[in-house]
Amino acid sequence: MNIFQLALMLGNVVRRGCLGLVTGGGPSGAATTRSPGNFAARRRCFRTATSVSGPSLSSAVQSDHTMNVSPPECLKKPLTVPSKLLMGPGPSNSPLRVHYAMMKPLLGHLHPEFCQIMDEVKEGLRYIFQTKAKVVCCVSGTGHAGMETTMCNLLEPGDGILIAQNGIWGERAADMARRHDASVSLLEKPAGEVFTLEELEAGLKKHTPAVLFVVQGESSTGALQPLQGVGALCRKYNAILAVDAVASLGGVPFYMDDWQIDVVYTGTQKVISAPPSLAPIAFGDRAMAKVHARTIPVRSFYADMTWLANYWGCDDQPRKYHHTGPVSSVYALREGLAIVCEEGLESLWKRHMACAQKLWDGLAALGLEMFISDASKRTPTVNTIRVPDGVDWTKVVKYFMSKYLVEISGGLGPSAGKVWRVGLMGYNCTPENVDLVLRIMKEALGNVKGHSSQL
Ligand code: PMP
Repeated sequence: MNIFQLALMLGNVVRRGCLGLVTGGGPSGAATTRSPGNFAARRRCFRTATSVSGPSLSSAVQSDHTMNVSPPECLKKPLTVPSKLLMGPGPSNSPLRVHYAMMKPLLGHLHPEFCQIMDEVKEGLRYIFQTKAKVVCCVSGTGHAGMETTMCNLLEPGDGILIAQNGIWGERAADMARRHDASVSLLEKPAGEVFTLEELEAGLKKHTPAVLFVVQGESSTGALQPLQGVGALCRKYNAILAVDAVASLGGVPFYMDDWQIDVVYTGTQKVISAPPSLAPIAFGDRAMAKVHARTIPVRSFYADMTWLANYWGCDDQPRKYHHTGPVSSVYALREGLAIVCEEGLESLWKRHMACAQKLWDGLAALGLEMFISDASKRTPTVNTIRVPDGVDWTKVVKYFMSKYLVEISGGLGPSAGKVWRVGLMGYNCTPENVDLVLRIMKEALGNVKGHSSQL
C-alpha cells in the first residue's frame, strides 16, 4: 500500500466513525465539539483510527528499522518552572491576564477573527508609538528581529548608514548593517553618554547617510537618548531616521509622528509585559517610499516589509499567507496593550519615572552610585548601578536569585563587570518591587565578603 492508499483508508475510518466529532459536523456540531465528553470521544476516535492497523497499514507505518533515538526520559516528567521575579533588563514578568489570554483557543492565522485581533493590536501599537502611520505591525521574533527587519528593508548594498553608537545595540546594528553590505559610519560616544543634536547634525553633514540609526534606551548602559529634533535634522539631510525603542517604549515619552521618526521597533517583553516573541514595528511613509524604491528585493523574505504589511492588513490589498503568525503571542500582545491603554501612556511614563527615582534615592542611601551621574540621561526602565570596588558583582546577583528568586543582572558589552542592571518595566515597575530590590541589595552587600560599605 502506498501513502495515498493509506490516507484514503484513514479518511474512511474518520468518515465512518468520527467525522461529526472531528469537524463539528452540522449546525449543532460547534457546541458538541466543545463539551468535555466530546473531547473524550475525539480521543477514542484517534485511538480507533490508529488501532485499525491491518497488515497493509502496519507495513506503511512500521518497519524493521530500529529507532536510533528513543523518547527522552526528561520529557516523561512534568514541566516544572520556578516562579521568579524578573527585575533584570528583560523579560519582565507578565500579569496573569496576559497568560490567560494565551490560553484562548487557537485560530488560523488568516481567520477573520484573528485578522480582527491583529487589527486591534495595530490600533494599540499606533497608540503606544503615537503614530497614524499606515504600516504598523509585528515581526514574528524578538527585538533583534525588529532590528534585522529595519536594516534589511532600509539598506541596499552601498547605502550609507550612520550609527550613533554608545553601547552594545549600536554595535549590533552596525554588525547587521554590514551583513547587508551597507556602508557603515559610526558616531561614537563612551558608554553612558548620549548624543547632542549638534553632534548628530555634524555626523549627518559629514557622512550624508541614507539612514541614521539611534537607540532610545541603551539597555547595556542605561542611557536615554533624547530624540526631539533628530527627525527634523534627518529631513534636512535627507536621511531616514530609525529608532530602537526596545528597552524604553512605554516607559518614557515617545511621539513617532511629532518627532518625525521614520522607523521604530520594540519588543513585547519589556514595558508591554507580554512574553518575548514579537517585535512591534512601524514604518512611516518616507521609510515605505524607500522600501518601494528599492532596486533589488529585500534579502530576507521573512522580514520583507511589503509582505509583512500585507499580512497585517496595512496595504489595502487582500491579506496573503506570508508566514504562520504566532497566534497565541498576538493574543498576549493584545492583552498587554489593553493594559497599557487602560492605564494611559502619560500615567505609565510617570509611574516609571517615580519608581526609578525611588530606586535611585534608595541606592544613594545605601552608598551606591549610578553608572550615569546625570539623572536626566538615564532611562527609568533599565537602571545601571556601579559595582563598588572590592565587590564581586556575581555574588550579589547570585544572592538575589538563590535566596529570593529575584533576578537582577550584571552589565553587558561596555558595562560588563562594572554595573548591575535593575529593570523597572511595565507590570514589574512598582514601588513594592523597588523596596524589595533595595532590601535585598542591602542584605546582599552586607553578606558579600570584602565589601566595606557604609551600611
Ligand atoms: N535593543 C535593545 C535596546 C534591547 O534592550 C534589546 C534586548 N535587551 C534588544 C534590542 C534585543 O531584543 P531581543 O533580546 O528581544 O531580541
